[in-house]
Order: sequence, then structure tokens, then C-alpha cells
Amino acid sequence: MLVVMNQNVSESQINEVINYVKEKGFDTHLSKGILHTIIGVVGQGQLDPRNIELIEGVNEVIKITSPYKLVSRQFQTMDTIIEVNGVKTGGDNLSVIAGPCSIESLEQMDETASELSGIGIKILRGGAFKPRTSPYAFQGLGEKGLKIMKTVCDKYKLASTCEIMDASHIDMFLDYVDVFQVGARNMQNFTLLKELGKINRPIILKRGLCSTIEEWLMSAEYIMAGGNRNVILCERGIRTFEKMTRNTLDLSAIPIVKKISHLPVIVDPSHATGLRDKVEAMSMASVACGCDGLIIEVHNNPEAALCDGAQSLYPIQFEHLISKISQIAPIVNKKFL
Ligand code: PEP
Ligand code: MN
Repeated sequence: MLVVMNQNVSESQINEVINYVKEKGFDTHLSKGILHTIIGVVGQGQLDPRNIELIEGVNEVIKITSPYKLVSRQFQTMDTIIEVNGVKTGGDNLSVIAGPCSIESLEQMDETASELSGIGIKILRGGAFKPRTSPYAFQGLGEKGLKIMKTVCDKYKLASTCEIMDASHIDMFLDYVDVFQVGARNMQNFTLLKELGKINRPIILKRGLCSTIEEWLMSAEYIMAGGNRNVILCERGIRTFEKMTRNTLDLSAIPIVKKISHLPVIVDPSHATGLRDKVEAMSMASVACGCDGLIIEVHNNPEAALCDGAQSLYPIQFEHLISKISQIAPIVNKKFL
């Protein structure tokens, strides 16, 4: 439930509510907006809203009927804006993350980062622990890859985003990675989500291969319930009967999620289509329908990529895509680059 406080509420009145519900065994999450202070009350058990309404400073108590609470717009009406390396995602900002699927070598990362930073990119992607269908496929360079990522990011003043597959890797990632990515296959790895709730780094939460929007939001709720509010949702296509593309990009998820949640939503057109020549069109469509950012695979030499080469853009193609996006962004009132 949500406890909406009066506009001129005092700290002691807020604390009185928090102490009251905590005594009953519930957790609280405070949201201080421009107009209202809202206390989100989550947990299991019996709590009579009438008793809370009697506490001084309380305006009203609202029951949230949806299973997701902290991610909902009822809890926080204002858009969440997440800033990384001077780049904002959410609100009226559009961000672009780019880089190869996997970190393969220092040379590959250096060349790609050099191209991307020349185009104005400030957040570099690249996986060091890869969730591959086949155990015989390239699994990533592991910690050595994270070190390469850090070296290159330091050189070009970039922030990094890398996929984390295992909760036991969190401490290692904290040393090297600015934005943690939870991949589609791990969207419902609840142990991982709970641990990521305990840290403060931004988390890109990809939608599961076969997950509904509600399941996706519930996974975000896991992270937020732990106390980490820096969640960026990423639509990366879902599995359907269609075989012409790797996945089916669910563009309608963007306006749906933007309406019911305050969290930023970005799109990964690379994994959604699996086809390099479809990435630009789907990027434009995603921006047009209101996404807050894009994460795109770009490789200095896609033909030689150890993973996802067919969907990776050549830097020159990416530069063209950026110019297209720059034209669409202002039409949908988004600031870009
Ligand atoms: C990736 O970003 O390289 C990746 C594996 O993505 P997803 O989890 O969306 O398949
Ligand atoms: Mn990939």
C-alpha cells in the first residue's frame, strides 16, 4: 500500500508512519516527489489502513492492486532518470550504449572504443561472461575481459556495461563495471536479483526470452525491494513463432511500460532482430515510440566477431544510425547527444 503524506509533512510525522508499519513487520520505501512524499509499504501480513490514516500528517492510504509496487507510477509519478558518465537515461533524455557483444582482445576493444568515442558515445558495452546456448561456444574472457574493458574505458573516458551471470561475481564486477547488465536468460534468477538489490550500481534488466511484461516488472521489483532504485528496463525481443528474425521486437511494450512504471526503458534492436541490416529501422521505430535509450552491438570487424557478428554494426553504419536518431529524437521531445 501507499501512504501519501500531506504536502507540509514533517520528518517526525514521516518517521511515525515508518515506525508504525515496521513494528507490524512491513518494509518501507520512501519516495519524496516535488508535490508529495509517499511511503511505500510492502510485505506480508495484516495492516488496517484506517489505523495509518489516523496518524498525523497522513493524507490518504492507497492500496496498490498490481503485484509490482515500487516500480509502479503510483509509487513514483516522476520518471526515474539515471545518470552515468554524464549521460542521462529517462525523462526527456535519450541515451545510446554501444559496443561489441563480447570482449575479445585489447586491440578489438581499443579500436571499437576509439571509433565509438569519436561518434560521441560515452557508455561502452561488452560481455566478459557470456550466456551461450552451447557449452562449446566462446564463453567470454572472464575477469581478464573486465580488465580489458576497464583499461579501454579509462583511456577513452567511457563508462562500461557488462553482463553479470552469477551473484558470486558481484564483488569482482564492482571493481571494473559501471552498469551491470542482467541478461534475458537471467531475468528470473531471483538470487542474483536480490543480491543486485543490495548494491547501488545501475542495473540494465533485460526482458526474458519468453517473459510477459508483468514478469519483467516483477523482476525489477526484486531489485528495487532490496533498495537499489537504479533499474533500467531493456526490451530485447521475445520468442515467437516468427523465424525471419532472431526474436520479435515487442515495440508495444515501450508505451505500456512507460505508462505503468516510472523506470526508464531502453531497446536492444541487435538481439531483437539478429540482423545487422534491420537494426537501424528498429532503432528509429523504438525512439519514435518513446524509448529512453538504445543498446546496440557494434564491432570494429563484425566478420571476425566471436559472438553475434551477424547482428553487429560496422562503425560506419552506427554513425549513420546516430544521425537518423538525432533527427527523430526532437520530434518525440527527447534530448540526445
Ligand atoms: C548480450 O547483450 O550480449 C546478450 C546476451 O543479450 P540477451 O541477454 O538480451 O540475449
Ligand atoms: Mn550479443
